[in-house]
Amino acid sequence: MTHDDVAALLGAYALDSTSEEEREEIEAHLATCPPCRAEAAAYS
Ligand SMILES: [Zn+2]
Repeated sequence: MTHDDVAALLGAYALDSTSEEEREEIEAHLATCPPCRAEAAAYS
């Protein structure tokens, strides 16, 4: 999953409405991408 893919799914991720597979990919990306972590934190 690319950064843009993850960024597009962060809203759904914050609402826990992604699939389990998507969530795992998002979390793997968040571990390596501070901007996405900040964005995810802003949603919650
Ligand atoms: Zn990212």
